Amino acid sequence: MGDSDDISQLLGRGEVPPVHEHNASGGSPFLLTCDHYGRLIPRVLGDLGVSESELTRHIAWDIGIAGVAETLSKLLDAHLVAQRYSRLVIDCNRPPHVTSSIPVLSEATTIPGNEGLSREARAARRAQIFEPYHRRIDEVIDRRIAAGQPTVLVSLHSFTPVYAGIARPWHVGTLYHRDQKLPPLLLKSFGAEADLVAGDNEPYAVSDETDYTIPVHGEARGLMNSGIEIRQDLIGESSGQQQWAERLARIFGEIETALRAERMI
Ligand SMILES: [Zn+2]
Repeated sequence: MGDSDDISQLLGRGEVPPVHEHNASGGSPFLLTCDHYGRLIPRVLGDLGVSESELTRHIAWDIGIAGVAETLSKLLDAHLVAQRYSRLVIDCNRPPHVTSSIPVLSEATTIPGNEGLSREARAARRAQIFEPYHRRIDEVIDRRIAAGQPTVLVSLHSFTPVYAGIARPWHVGTLYHRDQKLPPLLLKSFGAEADLVAGDNEPYAVSDETDYTIPVHGEARGLMNSGIEIRQDLIGESSGQQQWAERLARIFGEIETALRAERMI
């Protein structure tokens, strides 16, 4: 597929950059990230050999989370840093050395355009999509620390209601590993919502091998942090995205008050 020039020019003239930001001067202590915000594919990669119906499924992106993230960013006055290209091109929440970084199989779907990639082709995806996104998050955290602005990292995701034939009962999950401050506050708040089934590290837990944003930008930098996962059938439409953004804005507002009262931010 293409010559070496094509590989080095993964993103062509006129294609949008990977990093999308909203409310960059927001005053909230919460810094929102969204690794699986978009499902764009660089033109040079075609459709990766995957059908359009597969490219709109959860394997390509986190369905519904973009709308939640934008509205939550607005309601909280929080900076959002998001990534526009499909996780099938390169997964921005995987360490680049793991197999699932550029998956050849996602759930039960093979990704022909990811098979047998050269070292150069892998490096181009990393250099032109993965690294600009994570470099930007780094810069934002550096800038906030230098300015004395408190920073609590919240990584926004959504999960498919049924995975490999198994239905998932949770509406929302708190995902974490080493932070013992923010996740308990989130679990307490979710537990107080009478209509919610909340997952405690469900549908999956954060680990150094299966995640990147929380270990690298949250834990390694000593920031309070958590992932939030919302079930995709609840946010497939804009009304659900709005409702979930409003609910999360209320909950994060209460958590901000609690953190300030305890002088943790
Ligand atoms: Zn995700």
